[in-house]
Formats: sequence, C-alpha cells, structure tokens
Amino acid sequence: MRNYPQKGFKWIMELFFPIRCLACNKYGKYLCRNCLRTINISTEFNCIGCNIPSNYGATCENCRNKWHLDSLFICADYNNQIVSKLIHKMKYSYISECSKHLAEIAKEYIERFPKNTFNHSAVIPVPLSPSRLNWRGFNQAELIARSISKKIGAKMDADILIRNIMRKPQAQIKQKEERLINITDSFSVRQKRKFPVSVLLVDDVCTTGATLNECARVLKQNGSVKVDALVIARG
Ligand SMILES: [Zn+2]
Ligand SMILES: [Zn+2]
Repeated sequence: MRNYPQKGFKWIMELFFPIRCLACNKYGKYLCRNCLRTINISTEFNCIGCNIPSNYGATCENCRNKWHLDSLFICADYNNQIVSKLIHKMKYSYISECSKHLAEIAKEYIERFPKNTFNHSAVIPVPLSPSRLNWRGFNQAELIARSISKKIGAKMDADILIRNIMRKPQAQIKQKEERLINITDSFSVRQKRKFPVSVLLVDDVCTTGATLNECARVLKQNGSVKVDALVIARG
C-alpha cells in the first residue's frame, strides 16, 4: 500500500497511477511472480570487514577485533535493476508495499540454507530515528524483518534497540572510517529486558556495515552472544 493519509486519496492515486511491475510493466504488483523468479539470489559469502570469501559470510579472524557482527548474509545484488528499483521506490517514494517483494527475495534466499542456519532466538530490525520514522511513515527494515521472523519461526523484537539521535545520515558520508565514528553510540537499549541469546539483525541495505556493527556491539554489550545480519543487498 502507498501510505496516503486518506483511503479516498489512495484510490484516486491508483486510478491515475496504477501499480505496475517495476521490471515488465504488468499491472497489479510492483514485482510480478515471473520477474521475481528472474532475480539471481546471491551465492557468495564474504567477510563484512575485508570482503574476503568466508564460510557463510562469517567475519574473518583478522577482522574480529574491530567487527562485532558474526556473519553477514546478503540476499541479492544491488546492481540488479529490479532490486535497486524496489529499494529506491520503497525508501524515496515511500511505498511500503515494495518491502513485501524485498521480503520475498529474502525468503527465497533463506530457503536455500540448511534448516538450522537461521535458528536465531530473535529477529531485530535496524531501527530508524524517530524523526525519520515520522517522515517516511514506516521502518522498511521492520516490515522486511516481520516476514523473515515468520519464515524462520523466531520472534520479532522491534522495541529492544533504540536509535538515539539523528546524526548526519550515513548515506551522506563517503569514508568508511568516518562512517564508523559517526555511528558510534547511535543506539541504546530498552533496559530491564531479557536480551535474546542469538539475534538476526535485518536491514534493507548495508554499505560499509558500520550501522549493523554498532547494533551488534550494543546487543552483545547487553548479553546477546551471537549476532548475525541479513540484508537484501549491499549498496
Ligand atoms: Zn514483471
Ligand atoms: Zn575480514
């Protein structure tokens, strides 16, 4: 659904701008079944820190002193036009329905693994700052995470991590080192909560991985033992 405040407005918008598949233009959905099947699901695994090939995206020994995330799973390639169009439409045209299709890609990805790969005790979406949430009207990571939590049979916990303040958006910073500094202390946690032992963090896109890493650091500081992350693509 597009997030229009009034149902009537939504109806009028869809009359004049009917929903079409972003890939083949067919009416009905932003991604039709046929075009979903054409998306190459990723089969490559690399360390989040240095990008060398690693077993199921595990952080390599050399990067473990700086990286708190245990593994990074990337479902598809950001250079795939359909994937990048869906992400763009969701984030910058505020169309939350695209998250449903991104979640479909994630589910296709998850199905290719042995059952016990995603046996996390909780799925946690990377939170948005309150101001950004107000502005966009939804947290795209939360919408994707909800589908994933159902798929792997883990509870979703969207309340445990809090994004503190709106700093310079990470997307506006080019340098990797600067991104790591900018994100430090950006998250805090709800106190008096029992922290899940193993967590699957979910976001739509990661770039340097600094945001995911900071979430992992904070979760581990509060008792989580294993923190993996799943993103649709690395931009
Ligand atoms: Zn299509
Ligand atoms: Zn590494």
